[in-house]
Amino acid sequence: MGKQQTLQVLYNQEVASRSALENELRKVRDELEVQRKLNADTARLWHAFSIIPDACAIYDSDDNIVIANEAYKNMYDEIRHLIKRGLPRNELVSAALDAGILLKEGKSKDEWINGMTDPDHIEGGVKRVIQTGDGRILRVTSTRAENGDLISYRADITKEFERQKELEAAHIAAQDASKIKSAFLASMSHEIRTPMNGVIGMADLLCETQLDDEQTLYADTIRSSGESLLVIINDILDFSKIEAGQMELFLEPFNLEKAAHEACMLLRSKANDKGIDLLLDYDMFLPVWFDGDAGRIRQVLLNLISNAVKFTQAGHVCVHVVGVPIDDGKYELHVAVEDTGIGIPKTELAKVFKEFAQVDQEENRKFEGTGLGLAISKRLIEQMDGEIWVDSEDGVGSVFGFKIPLTCYPEEALKIPRVPNDVSHVIVVDDVKENRTILLKQLGSLGLTVSTFSNADDVLDAFDAGQRFDMVITDQLMPEKTGTMLAQSLRDRGFEGLVVLLSSGAKPFDAKNSERRIFDSILQKPALRTDLYKSLKLVFDPEPTPRKIGRTMVTSPLETRALRLLLAEDNKTNQLVFKKMLKSAGYDLRVAGDGSELLTLFKAERADIVFTDVSMPVMDGIEATQAIRAYEAEAGLMPVPIVALTAHAMQGDKERFIEAGMDDYLSKPLKKDKVLELIELYQTQATDNPFSAS
Ligand code: ATP
Ligand code: MG
Repeated sequence: MGKQQTLQVLYNQEVASRSALENELRKVRDELEVQRKLNADTARLWHAFSIIPDACAIYDSDDNIVIANEAYKNMYDEIRHLIKRGLPRNELVSAALDAGILLKEGKSKDEWINGMTDPDHIEGGVKRVIQTGDGRILRVTSTRAENGDLISYRADITKEFERQKELEAAHIAAQDASKIKSAFLASMSHEIRTPMNGVIGMADLLCETQLDDEQTLYADTIRSSGESLLVIINDILDFSKIEAGQMELFLEPFNLEKAAHEACMLLRSKANDKGIDLLLDYDMFLPVWFDGDAGRIRQVLLNLISNAVKFTQAGHVCVHVVGVPIDDGKYELHVAVEDTGIGIPKTELAKVFKEFAQVDQEENRKFEGTGLGLAISKRLIEQMDGEIWVDSEDGVGSVFGFKIPLTCYPEEALKIPRVPNDVSHVIVVDDVKENRTILLKQLGSLGLTVSTFSNADDVLDAFDAGQRFDMVITDQLMPEKTGTMLAQSLRDRGFEGLVVLLSSGAKPFDAKNSERRIFDSILQKPALRTDLYKSLKLVFDPEPTPRKIGRTMVTSPLETRALRLLLAEDNKTNQLVFKKMLKSAGYDLRVAGDGSELLTLFKAERADIVFTDVSMPVMDGIEATQAIRAYEAEAGLMPVPIVALTAHAMQGDKERFIEAGMDDYLSKPLKKDKVLELIELYQTQATDNPFSAS
């Protein structure tokens, strides 16, 4: 090899080794760069870890400290010098307990330490709340990582804890306040209703005495104002009870058609004074007995119907009740109250169900009211799992409706009369279309042929043209000819079928006797279907009636003596009202001033029926009832009917009375007819008692 060649080889070797070196160098530089980045990231993590405000530490799998952040050290300030890499966790806890940084909370030191370090407690993460010596509340979270490290994390929740405590205290205070409010309302209700008994009862009695026109007006005004005041008091009480969540529903079997009919009848005279027709359209195939809170349903009906009557000047108010079966005996009932009144502008519709809200409109201001009726109705219907709504057109009329699910009372079979063979064609005469439609439905579904007429002359024309029918149902007040005139003309033409007057007049019985004789029967509108069918002499299958709940008694007729009643009542005015109410009935009434007097009187004299006030001095009505029941049991006597007279309107009272052994209750202010009705009811049950035997 020449020199030249040798040099070339050496050169090549040099280049190769240099390039290898350069490669090596690049690799090292790259690695260094990665390392530098890693270091920066680690430094960043360490920094973040050290400044997060919550205390955090990492222990290795042997539970020795690896690292703790600043907050962690601050938490153990007095012993922070101990917190170094390698410190065992139980030593830290032990030192913290000694220094009073952690509170033992009734545990021994060992229990505490074991609780903190027990692997079972930590597996899967543990959360506990501890209190420190200086009153801070910490939430401790310990989590074991996959490599065995333990991450211990504690958040200072002192502020949240305090806020929570404040909230709880405020909640309890609010509950207390609400209880105080209800108690206040209960006593107010009692206090207000008791004197109202005197006012309304006495005015009632006054109206029955010989008065001249002026005096009658005054007495009537006292009575009706008293009754309006009571309505307002009851509304406010109801609303407060609902507000306090104290409104409870009492389910009992009730006749829905009757309830709707009663509500209509209560508002009939008001509707009549305004010349409005008040109609009830109860679905022909809907059962009438349901399980529900009859009182509350009647209250909603009354409110909707009274609104409809109040805000209607001419036309009609019609209550439609329909229902569809949903499942096992349950029905979804739809009730709609439709009127032809002033209506509600669309913009005002949303607010009518709000409390104390009335439509802001010139038309509306003339009417009185507190604006609570619909708010209460809405809450009641919602409590029955139902819905309430309104649809209205300004100046045309409104429909207020609600739907509720109710269980049909099982013992009721659908009660549809059979039509006698000789009856097939019925004529309905009424100038109001809605009335004709209702009767058409009610009678048509029985299989009768129904022809409707809007005036008397058309009926007479049809008759003259040879049309024949078996019965006529006619309205009284119609344009041109009245129902009486129609009946007379038909009779004159030799019509021999039934003629029934279905009058909307408040007092159809005002008609002269001679007029009345033309009709086979006279009914008031709206008529209960059963009354209508009865007056049409349709045949009923024996009527199943639901069993009566409550105490059943042995009965036998009262003989020659007067019925003896005992009354316990501490209020002198109320004693007087009660006495006067029964004055003309000829009962033998004895009066006691409190429960203990009642008991003495009962033991000495016995009674057929006992009436007792509930709140009385010395011994209240409940205690007196219990004492009477105990006495009866001891002496082997039949239980006497005991009726509570109460001004209490709070929930649960009825149960309390029944539980104490009472049979019934009357709510004050007492109404004479209600008292007499009840006496009559118990009269038949009252004879086989100790008193008649003595
Ligand atoms: P209250 O019922 O407490 O005596 P109210 O009748 O004024 O007073 P709601 O029954 O709550 O109160 O009715 C609220 C408002 O809704 C009424 O004041 C009226 O403006 C409007 N309203 C209710 N029913 C009708 C209706 N049938 N036609 C027109 N407006 C109605
Ligand atoms: Mg109202």
